[in-house]
Amino acid sequence: MENHFTVLQTDPASRARLGCLVTAHGEIETPCFMPVGTQGTVKAMLPRDLLEIGCQILLGNTYHLYLRPGHEAIRDLGGLHRFMAWDRPILTDSGGYQVFSLGAMRKITEEGAQFQSHLDGSSHLLTPEKAVAIQEALGSDIAMTFDECIPADASREYVRTSTARTIRWAERCIAARTRSGQLMFGIVQGGLFEDLRRSCVDALVALSFEGFAVGGLGVGEGEEQLREIGSFTVDLLPTDRPRYLMGVGRPQDIIHAVRAGFDMFDCVIPTRNARNGTLYTWQGKVNIKRAEFANDARSLDENCGCYTCRNFSRAYLRHLYMAGEILSAQLNSLHNLYFYHRLMDKCRETIRGGRTELWTRLWEPREAL
Ligand SMILES: [Zn+2]
Repeated sequence: MENHFTVLQTDPASRARLGCLVTAHGEIETPCFMPVGTQGTVKAMLPRDLLEIGCQILLGNTYHLYLRPGHEAIRDLGGLHRFMAWDRPILTDSGGYQVFSLGAMRKITEEGAQFQSHLDGSSHLLTPEKAVAIQEALGSDIAMTFDECIPADASREYVRTSTARTIRWAERCIAARTRSGQLMFGIVQGGLFEDLRRSCVDALVALSFEGFAVGGLGVGEGEEQLREIGSFTVDLLPTDRPRYLMGVGRPQDIIHAVRAGFDMFDCVIPTRNARNGTLYTWQGKVNIKRAEFANDARSLDENCGCYTCRNFSRAYLRHLYMAGEILSAQLNSLHNLYFYHRLMDKCRETIRGGRTELWTRLWEPREAL
C-alpha cells in the first residue's frame, strides 16, 4: 500500500513530529488544526478568509450534510469541494459522533445505528457501508470509519462490547470502499481502559488504513484521563501513519497532544467560543463581554496580525457583541482561527528548530488583562 504520510523530523525531547500528508487536493503540513465546517461552512467564515489565515484542511460533518441538503444532491452539484468553494483538502467524519450526540431514539444493532433526524424526526439507518457511500459522494480527501463514540462514564462491559463492534464496523468500511484517491482513517475506541484501547489498536493496525484517529476522548473524562489515555494510545499507533486526536482542542490540550505525538486536530472551540465572546490571545483568554472593555481603545491582541486585531478596538468588538451584530461572530471567529493556526505554526517551528525549551512557553491557559 502506498504511504501518503512522511515524518520529516522528530523532536528530541518529546514524541512530537513534523510531517507531510499528501491528499488529492494538496499536501498538509502536520501538526495541523482543522476548523469544523459543520454544514458545508465554517460558521461566519468566508473560504477566502480561511485561505488567508493559512488554513490547510477543513472538516465536514457527514451526519449534517446527509440530512441536509443530502449527499446525492452535493455529489450531483460536483462534490463538497465545489459546493462550498473550497479547493483544499477536506476530511469528513463518519456521522457516528452526531448520531450518538444529536440523533433521537437511536438504536444500535450489529447492522448499524437507527436514529431519528434532529431536524424533522424522520427515521434513518446509518451503517458502515452507508457512511462510506455518503463520504464518497461528498468526495472528501479523507474519510473516517463509522464508530460508536462511547460516553466517558460507560461501564467496562459496555465499552468492551461496543469497541468490538466498532472494529467489525471498521472492517466493513474497508470492504465498502469503491473510490481510489480517498484516504481512510480507522478510529480507535476503548474508553478509559488501556487493555481495550490496545486490543482496538491491534485489530485496526492489521487493516489497511492510511491513518488512525483516537476517538472517545474529550467527552467528559477530565483533563488528567484525557492526557493519560491519549498519550498511552498514540504510543501504540504506527509511527509512519498520521495520528488524529478527534474533537479535542483547547490550546493547552493541543500543545500537550502534539508533544505526545498526535499530528491532526479538530475542534469547535475556536469558532463556538468566538460566537460566545471568548477570544484567545497570546496573553491568555479574553471575555470580550466584560464591562471593562467598553472604553478600551487597544486592539484585542497587539501581537496578533489578523484583520480583526489590525483594525478594531476591544471597545468596538464588545459593542458588536452586545448589539448582537453578525459582524461580531465574523471578526471574533476570524481572530480565534488565526490564533489557532499561528499556534500550530509555532508547534511546527518548535519541532523544526529543535527549540524544546519553547514548549512550556507557547501558551498558558490564564485570563488576559
Ligand atoms: Zn487577531
